Amino acid sequence: MTASRTATGPVPKKRRGGRPGGGELLAAAVGAVPGGAARPGQQQMAEAIERSIASGEHLLVQAGTGTGKSLAYLAPALTVDGPVVVSTATLALQSQLVDHDLPRLADAVEPVLGRRPTFAVLKGRHHYLCLARLDNSVEEEPEDTLFDAPRPGGGGKWLGEAGRLGKQMQRLRDWAEETATGDRDELDPGVDDQVWRSASMPARECVGATRCPFGQECFAEASRARAREADIVVTNHSLLAVDMLAGRHIVPPHKLLVVDEAHELADRVSSAAQAELEPQLIDRSARRARPLLRPEVAERLTEAGDALAVGLAEAPAGRLTNGLPPALREACTLLDAATRAALEAIGDIKADDPDPVRKQQAKAVLDELSTTAQRLLEEADHDVAWVEKPENGSRRALVVAPLSVAGTLATHLYDERTVVATSATLALGGRFDTVARALGLEAPPPAPPSPAAAALATAAAAGRAGTTPVASTDGSRAAIGTVPATEGPGWTSLDVGSPFDYARQGILYVAAHLPRPSVSGLPEAAGEELLALVGALGGRTLGLFSSRRAAQQAAELVRARTDLPVLLQGEESLPLLVRRFREERESCLFGVMSLWQGVDVPGDSCQLVVIDRLPFPRPDEPLAAARAAAVDAGGGSGFAAVSVPIAAVRLAQGVGRLIRATGDRGVVAVLDSRLETARGYGPFLRRSLPPFWYTTRPDVARGALERLGKS
Ligand code: SF4
Repeated sequence: MTASRTATGPVPKKRRGGRPGGGELLAAAVGAVPGGAARPGQQQMAEAIERSIASGEHLLVQAGTGTGKSLAYLAPALTVDGPVVVSTATLALQSQLVDHDLPRLADAVEPVLGRRPTFAVLKGRHHYLCLARLDNSVEEEPEDTLFDAPRPGGGGKWLGEAGRLGKQMQRLRDWAEETATGDRDELDPGVDDQVWRSASMPARECVGATRCPFGQECFAEASRARAREADIVVTNHSLLAVDMLAGRHIVPPHKLLVVDEAHELADRVSSAAQAELEPQLIDRSARRARPLLRPEVAERLTEAGDALAVGLAEAPAGRLTNGLPPALREACTLLDAATRAALEAIGDIKADDPDPVRKQQAKAVLDELSTTAQRLLEEADHDVAWVEKPENGSRRALVVAPLSVAGTLATHLYDERTVVATSATLALGGRFDTVARALGLEAPPPAPPSPAAAALATAAAAGRAGTTPVASTDGSRAAIGTVPATEGPGWTSLDVGSPFDYARQGILYVAAHLPRPSVSGLPEAAGEELLALVGALGGRTLGLFSSRRAAQQAAELVRARTDLPVLLQGEESLPLLVRRFREERESCLFGVMSLWQGVDVPGDSCQLVVIDRLPFPRPDEPLAAARAAAVDAGGGSGFAAVSVPIAAVRLAQGVGRLIRATGDRGVVAVLDSRLETARGYGPFLRRSLPPFWYTTRPDVARGALERLGKS
């Protein structure tokens, strides 16, 4: 089923007595910020959302860093009758909205609206303290709890560690007496994941408020009740996906959904639809269920777990292109039969059951194992299966995930609500259609290049000879709306650009003279180029690497050949590293994929972003490989349809680390010559980036960095 135009959009609140519209609310919100000024892109976005609210047409909005996009969608959202749901990909944005933007907006619009708008945050059940679990945790089986006995091979915990965790557990019990929300994010200092797991409840294992002895006081239930009453509900893509896929109805019914960081939505939905079998999980569920089962039934579960461990040891890591190997098929068959027998033996939970919580926990895990085993045995064309074996051997698993979630999104997301999807990275290669299709919207096939696109390619090509703005051919620098709108049935798009003057603020330098990267790690020539650039500026460099090995080599090189402080991801916690990078002006921060999106350092601590190679998916990323193979099998190009768009999103996110504020200046250096030389995808990738000044001349890049270093 494809997305269809909703008959009518969300009902705007009636303008009784001159009730304010989105523009007025936005003006009030902006006016309340000291030094706040109207931003054209922000206004354009708010107006487009108001039109969508009126028409019911879904909207994709690309809004660059600095647009102020959260106020641009929150202000018109307040004109809708009934709750509006805002979904984010990261906890950081969720916190930014709830702790900063929404209280500020509520203060600012209260006099205009005549009432204070309300908002609530909605997280997964496991984010809240579970009173039933806390009550049960003292009685749980030893290996389920914090007090594992040491096991051969070092699986257990030593006494001091157990004592530390025990103290954390006691602190949680004390906190349970005083917290109003039970929300883990409000617990300061926090506790280890393991401790939290002993005091929280995954949604599938919850018995439900009506059967739970603590249902009346349940923190998760209270958060849902608050969400039902709020004007704006802030949630995350994972919860939205689970709600959509499992039909849990946690998210209150709503007519307007704003998906922020929308470039992440398809991946989050895919993760929510992913399932896996792990020997340890089977073992744990067998122990949990044992008190409810006859010994021979519990033993069958243990045998299935052992069979899976053997099958995983034999199978190589990676995608199972020829179906399940015999040993893994056998393990899934055993597990399917064993879980069914166990579920039948446990039976239904009766109204007067003395221990419904524990029974539900056992049933939920068994049910999930059973469903996953059956799904793997089915080997459906729409699923991809692979064996996961991390290099450190910590955890082996048999994993299954959907080949695509576009159909799922098309079926579940659009019919009942108007969707506004926004991000700084929605137009890939200068078009919205790739992302629209990934989000389940019907998009027209790519048209022949427009004169503007042709001019853009020419401008990009001109970079070989010298310098030019990469995506600004007419001398205009403020990047308002450089991407043409695309439309499909029931949706339209808009690029509101960015208030940043990219062509003046930044340079995109591609080291086109370097050999095409071939070996893994950091090639010697790329290392020398990195040293020259970092040396010219004097540190202040964020290094985004495609592999841990390359990041390590770069750190060793810069440490050995300069006196600059180098922070390397993995050597300390990421928030601490980012804080040091921000505060220690000459420092360099080097790391891998999580840094490509997670670093926001405005000012002169980050004036050079170095990218070692184009971030195409690696061959060992099973989902991307399977998706590309499926396109190839259909006669298309999997590389063009799958790998290039993935690289475009990642590259745009990485490049976007440089300019975070209007006063920022700097250089993005890409040490992968293919961005300039690859005729097919090079221009596509360049068009996916902000319109920096573009050069392939090392002397120009170094000269700019030297000037910045002296400023
Ligand atoms: S309703 Fe579920 S989450 Fe809430 S206390 Fe009971 S078992 Fe825990």
